[in-house]
Amino acid sequence: MRPVSRLILFRTFAGANLVSMQIIQNYINGKFVPAQSGATLENINPSIGSPLGTLPDSDNADVEAAYQAAKAAFPAWSAISLEERHDILRAISDGIMQNLDKLAEAESMDSGKTLTTSRTIDIPRSALNFKFFATALMHFASESHHTPESISYTLRQPLGVVGCISPWNLPLYLFTWKIAPALAAGNCVVGKPSEVTPLTAYLLGEICQAAGLPAGVLNIVHGLGPKVGEAIVKHPGIKAISFTGSTRAGAEIAHIAGPMFKKTSLELGGKNPNLIFADCDYDKMLDTTVRSSFNNQGQICLCGSRIYVEKRLYSRFKKDFVDRVNQMKVSHPLDPEARLGAVVSKMHFDKVMGCIELARQEGGQILTGGHALSMPSPYDKGWYIAPTIIEGLTEECRTNQEEIFGPVVTIQSFDTDEEALALANCTNYGLSATVWTNNLERANYFSRNLQAGIVWVNTWMLRDLRTPFGGVKHSGVGREGGWEAMRFFTETKNVTFGL
Ligand code: NAD
Repeated sequence: MRPVSRLILFRTFAGANLVSMQIIQNYINGKFVPAQSGATLENINPSIGSPLGTLPDSDNADVEAAYQAAKAAFPAWSAISLEERHDILRAISDGIMQNLDKLAEAESMDSGKTLTTSRTIDIPRSALNFKFFATALMHFASESHHTPESISYTLRQPLGVVGCISPWNLPLYLFTWKIAPALAAGNCVVGKPSEVTPLTAYLLGEICQAAGLPAGVLNIVHGLGPKVGEAIVKHPGIKAISFTGSTRAGAEIAHIAGPMFKKTSLELGGKNPNLIFADCDYDKMLDTTVRSSFNNQGQICLCGSRIYVEKRLYSRFKKDFVDRVNQMKVSHPLDPEARLGAVVSKMHFDKVMGCIELARQEGGQILTGGHALSMPSPYDKGWYIAPTIIEGLTEECRTNQEEIFGPVVTIQSFDTDEEALALANCTNYGLSATVWTNNLERANYFSRNLQAGIVWVNTWMLRDLRTPFGGVKHSGVGREGGWEAMRFFTETKNVTFGL
């Protein structure tokens, strides 16, 4: 495996000129090509607020080329031996880890997240996604059913060409979380990363080439959601759409894909509750709550943004939480001491600052944060927001109902378990919930009754890739992870033999 060659990245932490311009191209039929129209979009580095390079502004014609390449590659890719498919996916995983430093730097420059986060979370997990599904495909099995008169077996066959569309918050992590099972199940892919963070997906194309992935098996088209993303969803030959992103875009995709009878997996927004009871392991809870509130600048769909604390613990928690958050350093992504970096874009910065202003108007008291931060040059034009804690809001207000997806949390007290449950379930979202208690009965009561696809008890974001992942209510439809993903990317057929 050769290392990624095209990428000439960042010099030093303090270096003024952080990056050479990156001309990102589509990866279609094993080749790097511009959009057929020649149009490009600017790719901005949010930590310095200036261009990092360009990406193709692709359209229907590029999706069609990607689809034709995938269609042509499908018969051979779906027929190769499981061992061969495993070896190629494993080689992609190895290639990602061999390029850890460059990919981590690219991810941080593209998204504003700290280099520590990219190096320890995003990129290792991207490699693990391929490793996990490389082995999964070797063990994927299906059912058989016997009666005295018959024997039936279940065939799970690849769908053909599938579409994978991913967001900007965990760029390579979530892109590979879709692509790896799709390829493992024998499909060919037309993938689209977020236009806000396209760089590591582009580099993945090089890694796939070097790992021996046959041309056309994975095609990556870059560009805008309503343009190239929608072209993927509308394409009649693309059999399924695996989408992660906002509830708004998920609804648009469902609207198009429904009448076409396409399989869809929709992983959407969240407004996750974090329930803290007085009988919890306090230190562990506090450490984890700081992380679950502000990791990746609060831009993780699983972050707990509504924190509910049992009344007798509330004042202690409030003081300690504010103290701990005040100690967190916000800095440019390459600062090894940074706990928070820049938010992903100017547009997102404006949205989050607007949400903080709304919270003020709704009567919220800002306990800490609530403002933008400026950094020394060359980061002075980047988009940084102080981690923000707000109290004094009711559960019905927009701040507690709408997804902010930034470094902003609200805190509120409760008296009883029933009240805590009602508060937790009071939004349209239902992705994840966290419960801090050492009372087993209470933990089980909440696990059963919380309206969420994922419940964490005395932990947060501890992921076993075999477990089902996804949300209820407006947080999505379908599950990813383990066999759920392998099943999504296959068509189920029953075959019955009479005996
Ligand atoms: P987004 O919906 O704006 O975009 C996500 C992706 O969809 C991008 O690639 C975008 O180009 C594309 N897209 C946008 N509109 C489209 C359309 N009409 N048709 C086809 N494709 C379209 O979301 P975002 O701002 O990139 O990401 C943040 C959102 O993602 C938040 O709501 C967050 O909660 C959610 N998210 C959910 C999960 C999860 O697992 N449930 C994980 C991460 C992020």
